[in-house]
Amino acid sequence: MLRGFLRVTLRAVRLRRPSPLTLVTVALLVLVPTLAVQHYRWAGQVSEADRDRMQTHVRNAAMQFREALDGEIARAVINLQVGAATARDGFSDRYTDRYDAWLATSGHPQIVANVFLIDAAGAELQLRCWNQTTHVFEPFDWPEVLQPSRAQLQLELTALRDGRPIQRRIAAASVDESLVMAPLRPLPPPPGDRGRDAGQQGAEQGPVFGLTVLQLDLGYIRTQLLPELAQRYFMAPDDDGYRVAVTSASDPGTVIYRSDADAPLEPAAADAAEPLFGMRGDVFFFSRGGNGRGGGRRTVVVDMFRNRNGDGRPGGRGPQGGQLGGQQGGEPGLDQPGGRNDRQFDRDFGRWLLLAQHRSGSLEAAVTRARNRNLGLGFGMLLLLSFSVGTLALSSRRAQRLAQQQMEFVAGVSHELRTPIAVIQSAAENLSQGVVGSPDRVKRYGEAIGTEARRLGEMVEHVMQYSGLESGRGLATQAPLAPAALVDEAIAEATPVVAAAGVRIERVVADELPAVLGDAAALRSAMHNLVANAVKYGGDDRWVGIRVEGAGDGRKREVRITVEDHGGGVPAEDLPHIFEPFYRGAEAIGRQVHGNGLGLSIVKRIVSAHGGTISVSTRAGEGSAFTIALPAADSPLSHWQPAVSS
Ligand code: ADP
Repeated sequence: MLRGFLRVTLRAVRLRRPSPLTLVTVALLVLVPTLAVQHYRWAGQVSEADRDRMQTHVRNAAMQFREALDGEIARAVINLQVGAATARDGFSDRYTDRYDAWLATSGHPQIVANVFLIDAAGAELQLRCWNQTTHVFEPFDWPEVLQPSRAQLQLELTALRDGRPIQRRIAAASVDESLVMAPLRPLPPPPGDRGRDAGQQGAEQGPVFGLTVLQLDLGYIRTQLLPELAQRYFMAPDDDGYRVAVTSASDPGTVIYRSDADAPLEPAAADAAEPLFGMRGDVFFFSRGGNGRGGGRRTVVVDMFRNRNGDGRPGGRGPQGGQLGGQQGGEPGLDQPGGRNDRQFDRDFGRWLLLAQHRSGSLEAAVTRARNRNLGLGFGMLLLLSFSVGTLALSSRRAQRLAQQQMEFVAGVSHELRTPIAVIQSAAENLSQGVVGSPDRVKRYGEAIGTEARRLGEMVEHVMQYSGLESGRGLATQAPLAPAALVDEAIAEATPVVAAAGVRIERVVADELPAVLGDAAALRSAMHNLVANAVKYGGDDRWVGIRVEGAGDGRKREVRITVEDHGGGVPAEDLPHIFEPFYRGAEAIGRQVHGNGLGLSIVKRIVSAHGGTISVSTRAGEGSAFTIALPAADSPLSHWQPAVSS
């Protein structure tokens, strides 16, 4: 018994074994959501990594930008700083050589507009300016740019020279932004060596006695150097680049450079901010204004002087004795390096501020956009995959169903052929063997043979028509047709079927119908199929209604032909399939209504070939109405001869 049960169960399992395609579909149903979740996670991880990468990149770019700009200025400051001997004589070969070497090697010598020398040795400050042609620091009238700070510099430098401490921030007041100043100081001679410049000077390390002042060409820096650096470090050919702005560090409203109008002006809006024009050690910059607002720059100035004058070091980290760019100029008079490479100091202090913002508005926005794009792409692919598999499954099911229908069709046709053939065969045998004697019976036999032969013909006609339409053959002729005549002809053609079934046809044709353009034989055949169906499925009422009317107006005019019956109607489950080839309703099969499932599909194809449509309205137990809508022909009816005559 158990074995029997197992056999039954195994058979059931075998029967229900899913097809490979079903297995693939089910696997995909499980796999796709899993992949989607994984993809979502991966996209998150990728965007995290992207964010880190981009942050590092923008910070590096900002640092490189700073190093390039500050390096350029530093090289100028170091190379052009005046030594004690040059300050005393106003020229020296060493200085000339150094100046020429800097001119030849600097990438942007245009950043320096003038090199001034302020000498505080006497009672009055003496100003001299470097003449590139004569290679001499020549006496010079105080230019406008230095005028505002002249009095203060006099005070400060005299105080420093005399070894008196100076007050904080005095030096910073009213000094133009384009100036870079470095103190002049005699260098103590190296032990055992009292030669060279310092030796000639014969002085010990002494107090500051003047300043080297570089006047930078801000116009050049703004229009040439900054754009070039922005292009080099921040621009990318695609949307991945950055907008760049350089503002005054103490006043963000003062814009020095902007790569475009949307570039950020506030550090809060930027993805990276980096101080520019930083300073260290002996080189000190002043910022414009002298409005008393404190800033790192000024602290540096004061710190430096304080240290030099033994004025005590401020608490915390003040630079001492370092130099901008970390290079020793080589000329006596420059301070020795203090040995402190204070990066933090550089980072915190700068005359300008570099701000960079990703073109998408922010780095975060760029990362989110990239993430969304990745997600969209991934999900799109998964969707496409699901859609393709779904379509494949559907079409394979359709193909399976079609193959089954074709098998059923072949079986159905064979069955349908067998009955009339058998009837004809036996009638013929009976007649030939003289079994049928009375003329009455001979007549009945004749009628039976006729009916079955008609069925055979009809079936052959259907199969041929279907295969013709299936192979894509178009309409045989195209001529304007009168709808009323067409209907009459179809009714006449269907008369034998209608009469045999004892069905009454009610015909209602509207007046003044427009012509339709088409193939008369094909349209007649379509209508014949509808009438034949109405007879077959029309039930006991034995009534078929044919209605012809015009609809629409202007260019959209059409003729509607409706074939109606009072049968059981098309069951809801059959409705979506009745126009498919070989489809037969379950009821039709059950009640053994003869047919092959081709009638309606042939009608639909014929109507479509005429640019028309077919629709059905049906109610269970009340009947069905099939309506063919054909577009009206352009030419008036009077210009043609009817293709069909009644
Ligand atoms: P056939 O009539 O040979 O079965 P058709 O293509 O003409 O094939 O019709 C397809 C199916 O549509 C029929 O099997 C039947 O179930 C249904 N059908 C067609 N016409 C009618 C009708 N007038 N009333 C009810 N059902 C219909």
